[in-house]
Amino acid sequence: MVAYIDIVTGRISVEDMGKTLIHEHFIFGYPGFTGDVTLGPFRKEEAVKAGMQAAIAVMKFGVKTVLDPTPNECGRNPEVLKEISKETGLQIICATGYYYEGEGATTYFKFRQSLGTAEADIFEMFMKEITDGIATTGIRPGIIKLATSKGEITSYERMFFEAAAKVHQETGIMLLTHTQEGTMGPEQARLLIELGVDPEKIVIGHMCGNTDINYQKKTLETGVKIGFDRFGIQKLVGAPMDKERITTLLQLLENGYEDQIMLSHDSINYWMGRPPVMNDNLATLVKNWHPTHVFENIIPELIRSGVSKKTLEKLFHL
Ligand SMILES: [Zn+2]
Repeated sequence: MVAYIDIVTGRISVEDMGKTLIHEHFIFGYPGFTGDVTLGPFRKEEAVKAGMQAAIAVMKFGVKTVLDPTPNECGRNPEVLKEISKETGLQIICATGYYYEGEGATTYFKFRQSLGTAEADIFEMFMKEITDGIATTGIRPGIIKLATSKGEITSYERMFFEAAAKVHQETGIMLLTHTQEGTMGPEQARLLIELGVDPEKIVIGHMCGNTDINYQKKTLETGVKIGFDRFGIQKLVGAPMDKERITTLLQLLENGYEDQIMLSHDSINYWMGRPPVMNDNLATLVKNWHPTHVFENIIPELIRSGVSKKTLEKLFHL
């Protein structure tokens, strides 16, 4: 329906996205960070500076666009993204949407769900932000972010899916999801398609959290795109090792799915609240969790495994 996508500095055609990282966070915080402001205050200049460094680093590898799908309640900050974009020239896409029930700030819309207005309220919020911008910034989200729990799509989460599908039908906006610990990929794809969403406008996220080829195929056969978007996250949040991700990815490429797969890291460049402290073992496991890891370490590995340059390019183009 639409061949354009909104970025934080305006609107571009989808073709002009160029080489894209589909899932990176310039800023992210688990809901609750607002309660820890004494020890973890938000330092805007630091966030901008760190964001600019990350932007410049990925641009050296030819990246033209980064999609930052931070949910509304997890520290989303479109103005900081705009500043990073203006300073560096990197195209940045932001989102509208809420996180999954287990780790999101659920009480606001659960209360409204109990009153029976939540789904209409969510629809109205999505439409308003997509049409007029987020709060008073005038910055429009380019995608709707959706998320589900491990092993189920709860009634809370389903409200967002239904509202998003309606908004998609009116606007053609792209939908990008979070799946938890390698579950519900096929179910998310089927639900959205049943609700009338164009499969080509769906990106099912964190699919690299599952190494079962049948799970992958069940999702890909619906025609959606998928994110192998957590390279560098090993063991943390129930994730597999990069080695396992590569094995699964190579199998999918052998099966001809290269047009439907996007690579990324789900990196977090600046934490809201206090940054997490990790023990040595965990710190070693996630030492490559940064937005140039795929270019520095994963692509060389894929080339050694015989993946062509042409196929590799596709993994960064929507
Ligand atoms: Zn993420």
